[in-house]
Amino acid sequence: MYRIRLFATRHARAFEWLYAGLERVMIAADPVFRRIGYQRIERPVALIERAAKGLLFDCKMCGQCALSSTGMSCPMNCPKTLRNGPCGGVRPGGYCEVKPQMKCVWVLAWDGASRMKNGDRIGEVLPPVDHTLKGSSAWLRVSREKAANLRSATEAARTVVAQSFPAARRNEPSTAPLAPEPPAAQGRTEA
Ligand code: SF4
Repeated sequence: MYRIRLFATRHARAFEWLYAGLERVMIAADPVFRRIGYQRIERPVALIERAAKGLLFDCKMCGQCALSSTGMSCPMNCPKTLRNGPCGGVRPGGYCEVKPQMKCVWVLAWDGASRMKNGDRIGEVLPPVDHTLKGSSAWLRVSREKAANLRSATEAARTVVAQSFPAARRNEPSTAPLAPEPPAAQGRTEA
């Protein structure tokens, strides 16, 4: 497991690319997920996430995944569970103060981030862990939030267009509609 963890940080750029692809797929699947019900798929998705990330990153399922900001090195493997690091106790050679046989999680994180396209995100300060989210799927939460933001942005854009053409709306409302497409017109039913 430890070796795979080291492999993941060495190939952080490839994992960043894979993560972005997975996120796109999950956002695209949002209409299906809403139809089934997010609460119903939470458990199976969390199980898959636990298995995949447990193998690759020694994931502890904190529920607020930071991998994309931490060079694909899971901060929950730091013995001090620091969400921002490294601390001041890194040993010579980049080893952990608490577990001297282990490379510092945060030294690996900065190394992994240096290989990533958006590696500068490691400079952003992360909030403390919210333990109420432990065990939940971070994949599902993030893709659900992004899909909801996309939907609101689309609806807001539609409203802006409609409000820019008051005369058109007065004379021929269908040319600048305010109302979203009904689900039936999009070949789906409301969740
Ligand atoms: S940051 Fe949290 S969700 Fe991400 S790999 Fe680590 S324990 Fe798992």
